[in-house]
Amino acid sequence: MNEIAKGGWGKLVLPLKFMLDKRLMREATQVKGHLMGAIALGVGIAFLAIAQAYLLSQVIAQVFLENAPFSQVKGYVLGILGIVGLRAIFQYFSEVTAREASIRAKERVRENFLQEIISLGPVYARGERAGELLNTSVEGIESLDDYFARYIPQLILALIVPIMMLAFVIPEDFTSALVLMITGPLIPFFMLLIGKLAEKKSLRQWQSLSRMSAHFLDMLQGLATLKVFGRSKDQAKVIGRVSEAFRKNTLSVMQVAFLSAFVLEFMGMISTAIIAVTLGLRLINGTIPYSEALFVLILAPEFYLPLRTLGLYFHARLSGANAANRIFEVLEIEKGSAERGKPQAVQQELVAKIDQEKLAVGKGSPWLRFNQVELRYEKDGERALKDVRFDVQWGEHIALIGPSGAGKSSILQILLRFVKPTGGEVLVNGTNIEAHSVEDWRGMLSYVPQKPYLFAGTIVENLRFGRADASFDDVIKAAQMAKAHEFILSLPQGYETPIGEGGARLSGGQAQRLAIARAFLMDSPLLLLDEITSGLDAENEKDLLVALEDLGRGRTVIFTTHRMQTTIQADRIIVLEKGRIIEQGSPQKLMETTGLYARFLRTYRREVE
Ligand code: ADP
Ligand code: MG
Repeated sequence: MNEIAKGGWGKLVLPLKFMLDKRLMREATQVKGHLMGAIALGVGIAFLAIAQAYLLSQVIAQVFLENAPFSQVKGYVLGILGIVGLRAIFQYFSEVTAREASIRAKERVRENFLQEIISLGPVYARGERAGELLNTSVEGIESLDDYFARYIPQLILALIVPIMMLAFVIPEDFTSALVLMITGPLIPFFMLLIGKLAEKKSLRQWQSLSRMSAHFLDMLQGLATLKVFGRSKDQAKVIGRVSEAFRKNTLSVMQVAFLSAFVLEFMGMISTAIIAVTLGLRLINGTIPYSEALFVLILAPEFYLPLRTLGLYFHARLSGANAANRIFEVLEIEKGSAERGKPQAVQQELVAKIDQEKLAVGKGSPWLRFNQVELRYEKDGERALKDVRFDVQWGEHIALIGPSGAGKSSILQILLRFVKPTGGEVLVNGTNIEAHSVEDWRGMLSYVPQKPYLFAGTIVENLRFGRADASFDDVIKAAQMAKAHEFILSLPQGYETPIGEGGARLSGGQAQRLAIARAFLMDSPLLLLDEITSGLDAENEKDLLVALEDLGRGRTVIFTTHRMQTTIQADRIIVLEKGRIIEQGSPQKLMETTGLYARFLRTYRREVE
């Protein structure tokens, strides 16, 4: 029994799973009201069609058979005209409500999707994947449009309307009703049969579109490099190949779509013809009244119409479901946030523990502990971190140093929860960091990246990004502490100067000072700073270091740097090489050794002197 259900026949006999995507249905229930409205209007249209068929058959029967004058059928004719008008109005509103439903559903999906991408962080959305995600968030979600606006309402209508029509035909003429009952289900049957065929092709088309977008975006971003190395011709060939594959896939989907449209039309036509023939034979024998036969004959195409329309929208289901697969795949990625839904409480708990820890600085257990942490960015890839162990006491300032590629930024990425360690664990107050939700955890830290991103907007908007409700005084105070106030005032419109795309151009140092001001404004207990003094001249660096000393007071700070001078301020230094910690300790203690740090520092001093 189970075997059959699993087999090909089971899939055809029990096609419900095939007809609907569970996760999309969940979204559809969110816009239930609008969908029901559209369906109700569709049922209304079907009723009007029945009434129209009846009136039309009466008019024709009376005029042709009984030679009735126009005045006798005038009422009917006006009725028909009224119905035609009404149908148009119904049609209009049902279209509008269905679109409304789809727009709302898409909005929800898109919002969730973008939120998820943001909280997954930059490591997830890097390289080729950026293009693929872009394609999913634009094309993919757009392709849900027909699923919500057309497919779902039509699916319900295809169930209701034919049964409704049968209810009218059965009392009039049972023989024709029988023909309808037998031929009707053949249309969905063939639709499923062809749909199965189209499913794989449509999936392939969607994948090749995504691949093309991914490749294209990656290429655009690297265009300068490609040009410099004279490789743009090769890449043009690759693009040609990828687009050609997409063209072929699209055409094969089109072939199936045309084939299915043809088969469904054909089925509808043949079925109507069968009804016409049986009616005709009985008319000749005189066993059925002319007006009744006419009514049934006019109604027959209307009976098949919703089934045929469903067939037309069936490929909307396919492309919708394919896009949905990818969308929900992203939405359901586990981010290591074990507990959701009670963010406030957890965060308070975290902060409360921190406060306790604050009192116990220097005594008790460490606040943060890296325990044999290992990190691979890619499955079976190189290990960016190996057996990393260190403790951080609350309020400590830790400097991570080491040659480029040593794994400094990777430690910060783990602390930002942009990546999950592939081995070992990170403990906060003795519990795994993953017990806290990503949102809570990020809520208590500020991060100043090496190349801070400034959004298109004014300076004050960019600063308030850290805390939207900050007063203007607080903003100015933060800017002053970050040594950004002076240069901001020297800009043409001061704090209201637009920056980012099309706005004022800021130097690297200025952008970094704005990012630090942002961190000041956020006032978080944990600060993560990644090489923020790199690419600055000595003057700017000195300013920035002073600002950082202010910022770090009373906070836990973990920063990476390759400037020796910066490290002297730290409480503790962790030296990394090739993903391993090779030395750690206070600057004084490390200086007394013959290790890497001492050597670095000696070279540095020699250079300065
Ligand atoms: P550092 O900040 O010390 O220069 P990173 O932590 O950035 O070093 O990098 C450590 C190693 O991990 C390097 O070999 C780098 O190539 C690799 N790496 C860093 N980020 C990624 C990433 N997103 N995907 C794959 N590999 C990465
Ligand atoms: Mg780095």
